[in-house]
Amino acid sequence: MTTDDATILIVEDEPPIRRLLRATLAAHDYRTLEAETGAQALAALRHHKPDLVLLDLGLPDIDGQALIGRIRELSPVPIVVLSSRGEETAKVAALDAGADDYVTKPFGAAELMARLRTALRHRLAQQGAERGFTSDDLSIDLVRRVVRRGSEDVKLSPKEYDLLEQLAIHAGKVLTHKHLLREVWRNESVDPQYLRVYVRQLRQKVEADPSAPRHVLTEPGVGYRLV
Ligand code: CA
Repeated sequence: MTTDDATILIVEDEPPIRRLLRATLAAHDYRTLEAETGAQALAALRHHKPDLVLLDLGLPDIDGQALIGRIRELSPVPIVVLSSRGEETAKVAALDAGADDYVTKPFGAAELMARLRTALRHRLAQQGAERGFTSDDLSIDLVRRVVRRGSEDVKLSPKEYDLLEQLAIHAGKVLTHKHLLREVWRNESVDPQYLRVYVRQLRQKVEADPSAPRHVLTEPGVGYRLV
């Protein structure tokens, strides 16, 4: 599978939005499958093995977060969630349940395509058991635990490294505050302000311009992602 000839399962109960998604994806040479309910989505997943699931959180038969849990029991398939504006809590819950990313309705085709490509690439990188991350001037060797910016070694504190490691393992994916606090501090109830301080320190070391970060990006109200 490359990111270009992927099959995408559209799970959406509203026919006009489903039609729009089908047309947009077809115009970008994706193959599509469609489901109107959670039950149909699980059946399609079992029988057709799509490369990505595009999932509306408001379905008639099952809560979106519960459906993500059921999908995760069956498959590591990337899940991009479609949510409505103002559904911040639902978005965070969906990411914590195992979704890879989200797009807020109404969405633009360019944004949707970019999110799908990132999620598909993220999965390919994981399948290839990539043991590092490289983008422009930043390289992270997860085996040797070495971080370089350009030709310079970057010295990180153990917590800064753990934070960057989590972001690198899931490069491209939005990691929620809760995920990072759980994985780096082993404690989800730590004040997210603490995380903000470490992200700021990390940017001082890995970004060419820490005030305009190009690698460690903020997803407002949700979390962070490495690109
Ligand atoms: Ca809906």
